[in-house]
Amino acid sequence: MAVDRRFQRQRDHLIELIRSKGIEDERILAAIRAVPRHAFVDGALQTRAYEDEALPIGLGQTISQPFTVAYQSLLLDPRPGERILEIGTGSGYQAAVLCELGAEVYSIERLRPLFERTRHLLRELEYRLSCRLGDGTLGWEEVAPFDGIIVTAGAGTIPEALKLQLREPTEDRPGGRLIIPVGGSHAQTMNRLVRTGPDSWERERMDGFRFVPLLTGVR
Ligand code: SAH
Repeated sequence: MAVDRRFQRQRDHLIELIRSKGIEDERILAAIRAVPRHAFVDGALQTRAYEDEALPIGLGQTISQPFTVAYQSLLLDPRPGERILEIGTGSGYQAAVLCELGAEVYSIERLRPLFERTRHLLRELEYRLSCRLGDGTLGWEEVAPFDGIIVTAGAGTIPEALKLQLREPTEDRPGGRLIIPVGGSHAQTMNRLVRTGPDSWERERMDGFRFVPLLTGVR
């Protein structure tokens, strides 16, 4: 894709910052380095696009902090060709990072204006993925199961549909994994679930974060 060189130095600086915060996986860092984050925020915010901060994207929503995107991407660790579902398309930034990692990406957004705007932007930037307007807590049944699911909004509880849409393990491959922040409206704990059988999941709790809430329904 056509990368805008203007911001490359700022992007390099951001990569070093994320690395210094403990994300040292070169695949993840390269993917973040490849995505023009300034294209995912409003013109007036572009000069701040390579600060390690969440920024407003309208409708009370935010583009995730780059460190958070790196952290969740590393936990998900999508391999090229794996089928990945993202809940909460938002600005499209996390989805673009997943595309750069070579995943087959599906992404759901519940707010129509964001869905329309972001689908258009991702197409313009030549990212190939499937976007859909819908309630992500229900997953995407028609294309399940997924090798991985990443939720980029804070959940009160883990939606059952998402657990069930993870691929079951086989003899030579572990089951699908779900990366989801779980908690109250002001703070959540990152959770990583791995499907270990038809009716079983292994759950790990990681660091604390603050996301916009995972809500239900379409607006
Ligand atoms: N991944 C995004 C983060 C955006 S913030 C990015 O990189 O910019 C989280 C997004 O989740 C918001 O756009 C919000 O509208 C959306 N969201 C919240 N609940 C949802 C649900 N049930 N289904 C789909 N999207 C949801």
